[in-house]
Parts: sequence; C-alpha cells; structure tokens
Amino acid sequence: MRIFSATIATETNTFSPLPTSIEAFRESVFLRPGEHPDDAPRMCTAPLFVARKRAARDGFTLIEGSCFAASPAGKVNQADYEFMRDEVLTQLRAALPLDGVLFGLHGAMVAHGYDDVEGDLLERARAIAGAKCVIGVEHDPHCHMTLKRISNCDIMICYKEFPHTDVADRAEEVLDLVLRTLRGEIRPVMSLYDCRQIGSYPTTLPLMRGFVDRMTALEGKDGILSVSAVHCFPYADVPEMTSRILVVADRDKAKADALAKRLGEEFVSMRGKTMPQFLSVVDGVKAAMDEPAGPVVIADPADNAGGGSPTDNTTILRQLIAVKAEGAAIGPIWDPIAVRLCFDAGVGARFPLRIGGKIGPASGQPLDALVEVTALARDCWESFGPTQVPLGNCAAVKIGGAEGVEVVLITKRTQALGLELFSNVGIDPLKRKILVVKSTNHFMAAFGPIAKRVIYVESDGPLARDYRKMVYTKVKRPIWPLDQETQPGLIF
Ligand SMILES: [Zn+2]
Repeated sequence: MRIFSATIATETNTFSPLPTSIEAFRESVFLRPGEHPDDAPRMCTAPLFVARKRAARDGFTLIEGSCFAASPAGKVNQADYEFMRDEVLTQLRAALPLDGVLFGLHGAMVAHGYDDVEGDLLERARAIAGAKCVIGVEHDPHCHMTLKRISNCDIMICYKEFPHTDVADRAEEVLDLVLRTLRGEIRPVMSLYDCRQIGSYPTTLPLMRGFVDRMTALEGKDGILSVSAVHCFPYADVPEMTSRILVVADRDKAKADALAKRLGEEFVSMRGKTMPQFLSVVDGVKAAMDEPAGPVVIADPADNAGGGSPTDNTTILRQLIAVKAEGAAIGPIWDPIAVRLCFDAGVGARFPLRIGGKIGPASGQPLDALVEVTALARDCWESFGPTQVPLGNCAAVKIGGAEGVEVVLITKRTQALGLELFSNVGIDPLKRKILVVKSTNHFMAAFGPIAKRVIYVESDGPLARDYRKMVYTKVKRPIWPLDQETQPGLIF
C-alpha cells in the first residue's frame, strides 16, 4: 500500500496589507522530503507526521512530499503558490501508483488569481492520482469548505477544537478512514450543509462546547464516520466564505444528508450566541485593574496575527500607560526594526524607542516612549499543543518605573500562544497582574489555565469582530449578519 503526503498551508486575510511571498513560508515551514523533523508536527503537517509514525504498524509505505506553511497574512504571490503547488504535484506524479493521498491543508489560502487554492490543488491532484486513489484531507475549521474541494477528495475532516488542540488527533482520524477505505471496510460519502452565516465559535464557551461534544458523540456509530463544523474564516473576500456542516458517513448518503441538515439547522439557531462578550479597551483595562489578583488576561482578537493582522496596533499598550497600570505585560508586538534597535542598545540600556503603528491604518499610531531593555533572546519559540511556533529574535522593554508596563517585541509575526512568549524574555506570566495577549482564542490553551479572569476587548485593530464592518465584494449573499433573510440548506 502506497500513500503520499504533503502540505501547503496558510490562512489568507484578503484585507491584510501584508503580502505573502515564499519568504513567509521559508520563515515558518519549508520542509522538503528528507528534511522533516522527528520531534513534532509543524502547523498543518500533522497528517504526514502521523502517517510516518504509523506506516510500519499499519503496513503501508509513506512517500513524503514537501510541506509548506506560512503565518496568516495577505494574498499569496501567484508565482510562489504555483511553484509550491507544482513541486508537490510533481512529487505526487513521481510517486505513482498510489493507493492513498493525505493532505494537510489549512483551507483558507488565497493566492492572486486563485480564490480557492485548495480546490485547485485537490482538483489537479485527483486528475493525477486517478479516481480510485483515496484522497484524505485535514482542514482548519477556519476555512472555506468549497464544493470543488468536496468534489475532489474522499474524506475531509476539520479540527473540532478552537483553540486547535486536536490537530494531531484529527490527522489520526483522516489516516484511519483512508486506511479503512483502502481495506474495503468502509465506503465514505460526504454531505455538506451551508448555514449561510459568518461567525466565530470558540469551543471554550459553553454553547459551542456542547455542540462539539454532541458532534463527537455521533461519530463511530450508526454509520457516521466523522462530523466537522466549518467555522469559516471571516477575513477573506471569497465567494464561499460561510459556516458549513460536513458529515462523512459509510455508504449511506441519505443518512449523511439527514445528519448534516439536522446539525446545520442547529448551528443556524446558534447565530449570535457563540462569541464572548467584548469590552471596550478603556473598560477592559479598568476591569483588569479592578481585579484583586492576577494574572488577568486581556485578549486583543482584533490584532491577532493568526487572522492575518500585522500585530503592531498600540491602542491597548497606550491605554495601559495612560492609566499607569502596574505589573502589566503585553505581547506580542511585531516590530523587527524595534527589536533590531533594542539589540543594538543592549540589555539595561534606556533609550527612546518608537514601537508599532507601522504597517497600516489599523495599526494605529506608533508609540514613542523612553524604554529600558530588560531582556534580549535570539531564535525564540512558543508552544501550541504539540507544535512549536517560531517567534524569531525577541526583546522585552519596560516603560515606566519598577512596576511599569512590559512589552514583548518579536521579529517573526505570530499570535500569543504559549507562556514562553513572555518567559523567553524573563517575564514570569504567573507573577504579572495583567497579561495582554494578541490572539482570538488560541491563547486559551496555555493562558486559560493560569488566568484568574479572561477579558476580551474589541480594539481598533484590523480584525473587526462585527463582520458588518468588513467590505466584502465577492462573498455570496445573502449571508448573516450582513443580511437578515438567508436560505441555508444542503448543497452537496
Ligand atoms: Zn483556525
């Protein structure tokens, strides 16, 4: 049995002022055959990683293809996407004959000239591998689950958890279902229900937690193989940006249809009830300061690199300084030039530094302050579940006196995921009263357990939580909350 695996992954915010070139992939995940590490999967490479661990035991030969993944940002350069795609497809062709293919794809990548990158890749892969080859795909739920993709693969599974702590578990399931199909034990059929809505669905809140638990309980019995809630990725202006429910069943299409419809209708009934409450920046900072003990975690989802934001908005930092917040630390702010200046100044130096506010209008104004460089560290990482995410060279600076505001500046743009973001540069997150993290909800995996309280604020960063503020031109209408009247229904 011969199985090929590869990854091309990023999440494209089509509104972001940051173009994505192949350099962004080189900075993050750029692994050719023979270069894949043994220790842990990197971002969307879990299918390859899992298949490698199981190849001998499950009796198949794994042919390892290239894995490319980049931090979320703006549209991918067309030539660079085609280069990565053609490299993977050439490897796929060279690996023939193949029984199975495993793709680790984020699912929300947009390139210039390609609104549906993954659909393009899967359609070409199917044409090369042939109709009998079993193609299994893992997606992030923040994806665009297009008809083209569903039509060109056999098994599609999204992570269930947000924060995405189950990337490896879902990859195991994709491999399980591919192998069972190849052994003739099952014959997967898929159904897709379009909820015609845009939303955010953290699974750390009770309503969505219950929904995911019910989804999971349905699997593995009565012919239901897998259920995925497709959250959608709201910051992309592409036609099929919408929340959907995907069901994979064994042989019985009518059963898959019925379940997709039932869960889809339930998902529609949850409109407007799945997001946390958001405070203003002023109220959020005040609420944190009023708490008797820390750490109080303030999340800034609107400036989340994980959604393609530049992560150099200074609004919350400015507020912390204005109200003289004590024992507060904020991170990350992506500012490679400021980091360079801090390295030049050296640990212990006090000097005037301009921080953030550089990339676009939603970055706000830069902040000028007299800072003390408290720590410098090269080639830093932070953990997110089993994966390691690079932060690059980092600097910590303090603004104000002994109990001033500390800022973590990074050179590789990413969101707040692990406690190492702070501890790498000598800041003990357990000992700070207030921790401001730029992240939508992934921060909860590491920061939730240490937080005395979590406060979500809506800053003036680029990722508006009210989707009616986004200017969509390609998204198919009607869709809630842009439109009140919609027509949800089965589409596949
Ligand atoms: Zn995601």
